[in-house]
Amino acid sequence: MEIDEIRNNLKRVWGDIEGVCKQAGRDPAEVTLISVTKTLNVEVLKRAILAGATDLGENYVQEAKEKIEEILIAGVTAGEGGGVGGGVRWHFIGRLQRNKAKYAVKLFDLIHTVDSVPLAVELDKRAKNMGKVQDILVQVNISFEEQKSGISVEGVIDLVGEISTLENLKIQGLMGMPPFGLDPETARPFFVTLRGIREKVQAKNIPNVLMNELSMGMSADYTVAIEEGATMVRVGTAIFGSRG
Ligand SMILES: *Cc1c(COP(=O)(O)O)cnc(C)c1O
Repeated sequence: MEIDEIRNNLKRVWGDIEGVCKQAGRDPAEVTLISVTKTLNVEVLKRAILAGATDLGENYVQEAKEKIEEILIAGVTAGEGGGVGGGVRWHFIGRLQRNKAKYAVKLFDLIHTVDSVPLAVELDKRAKNMGKVQDILVQVNISFEEQKSGISVEGVIDLVGEISTLENLKIQGLMGMPPFGLDPETARPFFVTLRGIREKVQAKNIPNVLMNELSMGMSADYTVAIEEGATMVRVGTAIFGSRG
């Protein structure tokens, strides 16, 4: 996809975000658009950054590693709208295997998909070795599907409590996904559920835990997710077209 098309799509999505925030009485600055670039060629990522994308989301560690390294070498920095210091923030949004924890910590500013103590312990260890405090989100299985990743709704408070004791991880909030393929209005109650879980965690006042971020909403339903409190939306298809 050419840069003009990417820029137009970004503008349209930003416009939607602004519009829905205005209607919902929210400040658009509270909502981060994460451009999801999984499976896309690194040239497309460079164009997205030049077109003003400040936050990119990737699902596979090895693929992301190759692309991020190339972008760092090429020194591509955000154009219009640019990120802090002209840099790009990298988000890991895929399923994370423990044996990839080291690279995930090395590469990503925010890991959205922490859903178990063993994974958290491994990330904490790797972050400590690198002298980094790794920002993470706890992924919650709000769809109640067996296969899906994410901690069960009943398990969230305990998991957050255990992770809060790990000195090199910092919980910033929660991430969740409704069942695949729902229309936006059918997805809405799942977003409401995640917001409710955040409120429950907030009420516990667990030290070292922030609940500022709610990562929810994708191409099909990001406006509804924002109406229900999303602070991060993860959008691929609406910016880059179908991944085929
Ligand atoms: C692929 C993906 C997205 C983006 O999906 P689109 O429907 O293309 O916007 C968002 N979140 C996660 C976790 C993904 O894997």
